[in-house]
This record gives sequence, structure tokens and C-alpha cells, in this order.
Amino acid sequence: MTHMKKRGWLGLYLLQGTVVLMFLAFPFVVGEATTKLLGDRWFLPVTFVYGALWLNQGRLLGKWTCPRCERSFLRSDKSTVSMPFRLRCANCGFRLGSVRTSAQGV
Ligand SMILES: [Zn+2]
Repeated sequence: MTHMKKRGWLGLYLLQGTVVLMFLAFPFVVGEATTKLLGDRWFLPVTFVYGALWLNQGRLLGKWTCPRCERSFLRSDKSTVSMPFRLRCANCGFRLGSVRTSAQGV
């Protein structure tokens, strides 16, 4: 880690919120709105685009870096599995929502 940049947790919360909302909204957006407004033939294309956007949000979530160790917060370096939610950093154990200080929180 090079410099002590101040980073909020808001970015992570927003990404997580978006992922959850998109997941919950899927049946309404794709199932109801799309088939009613655009017709049944748009079901598959919209599902595909929506799914791609959702997967991309998940990818961004996996790339979100820990404010302390600056590695992925949700995915351990030793694992390929990315958890959507964690209370502590997968790599250094930094607690979610903590204010970054020099040597605390391990
Ligand atoms: Zn960390």
C-alpha cells in the first residue's frame, strides 16, 4: 500500500445494494414489464442483457478493494470463490465499516 487515501464504504454498499435489488427486481422487470410492454419475443433478449448487467455488477463487487490491504475485500487471494457479503476482509480481516487506522482491526 502506497498512500493513505480516504475511501468510504459507500461504494461497496451501493454495489451490494444494486446486486440485491437487481436480483429481487428480475421477475418484475423481465417477467412483467418486458412481456407486457414489449411483448413475449423480447423476453429472451432482455433476460440476456439484464443477466449480463447483473453479472457485471458481481464482477465489480469482486474487484472492490479493501481500504487497508488494497486486495479484493470479498475474494481471498487463495480462493477463486467470491462471497457477495462479508463482515471482514477476505485477505487481511479488516472489519466492514471500520475507519482505517494504522494498526488496528486485525
Ligand atoms: Zn484487507
